[in-house]
Amino acid sequence: MNYTIKVRPTMKSRIPTVDFNNIPFGKVFSDHIFEADYIDGEWRNFTIKPFERMSFSPANMTLHYGQAIFEGLKVTSDKDGNPLFLRLKEHAKRLNRSADRMAIPEVPEDLFKQAVMQLIDLDQDWIPQGEDTALYVRPFVFAADEYLGVRPSDTYKFMVFTCPVGAYYAKPVRITTMPEYVRAFPGGTGYAKAAGNYAGSLRPMLEAHKKGYDQVMWLDGIEKKYIHECGTMNLMFVIDGTIVTPPTETGEILSGITRNSVLTIFKNAGYNIEIRPITIDEVIEAHKAGKLQEAFGTGTAAVISQVATIAHGDVVMDLPPIEGRTISRFAKAEIIAIRKGEKDPFGWIEKLIPATV
Ligand SMILES: *Cc1c(COP(=O)(O)O)cnc(C)c1O
Repeated sequence: MNYTIKVRPTMKSRIPTVDFNNIPFGKVFSDHIFEADYIDGEWRNFTIKPFERMSFSPANMTLHYGQAIFEGLKVTSDKDGNPLFLRLKEHAKRLNRSADRMAIPEVPEDLFKQAVMQLIDLDQDWIPQGEDTALYVRPFVFAADEYLGVRPSDTYKFMVFTCPVGAYYAKPVRITTMPEYVRAFPGGTGYAKAAGNYAGSLRPMLEAHKKGYDQVMWLDGIEKKYIHECGTMNLMFVIDGTIVTPPTETGEILSGITRNSVLTIFKNAGYNIEIRPITIDEVIEAHKAGKLQEAFGTGTAAVISQVATIAHGDVVMDLPPIEGRTISRFAKAEIIAIRKGEKDPFGWIEKLIPATV
């Protein structure tokens, strides 16, 4: 299906004001934004317009009850400067899984794809060209009713805007469990990229910072021993040559698209993979026995974030040096090569389909 998007281009691009060699993450926004309204049971008013402030009622339901979801993906370019979209369809599908959980209407996959493509078609010059840089794309949907009763909103907005992001040196992270806090539990919203999940994680994150750690390593809410994930990353461990990561089917762990990509790459390369519950005690035992070779997070932002230290109560484990982590470094190199358009063994890359109108 092809949607007609009304385009109101900016009169004056802000590109000349941006230092592309020094871009602070998440603070510089490209020239345009896509907007759609959900009214009377359907998406309409498809518009691309200059990125600008918006006005809304103090009674906007999102402000009170947090019915809001988002996605995060990256657009890169090949050596000839053609925009490359990585696993766009997976992001559209995940937005709808989040939408379903939060009683938000689905965004048709074709609309999601066309909104992102047409926006990037217009803002192509915002895709940074340096090694490891990208244009970060932020699609989101939120309640638009002006009403103080607790019920799903009848109206919504679906918007997409983008931010150029520089190469960031992902410093190895120090992570700690916080068994007194729970991020997700069976039947909850853990698998949704829903705004409220992040709000609830902020105080534990601050407490982790106070203790000298970068992120919280979330454990399950019932037995407080099964490892879930960490910050906004999925976690993987390499124990005695085998890659171990927890399953996402219980709905407590957000199913990362990078997690899926990395697992596919590992499987294809013939590595041993175990997708099964893993306890913090098993990690401690493996570390004691000298078998914990690697631990890393996967996510769109950094692809792979190396874990330097894991703390659990009095146990503080310093992991082997980054240089020797051949398995995670291999996965990162593969994804970077795919993002640059050097190869596409799994058919993950889509090229820009220019707007027909
Ligand atoms: C976004 C996110 C991830 C990683 O997902 P990707 O699709 O790989 O970026 C993992 N955990 C949480 C809680 C997230 O929000």
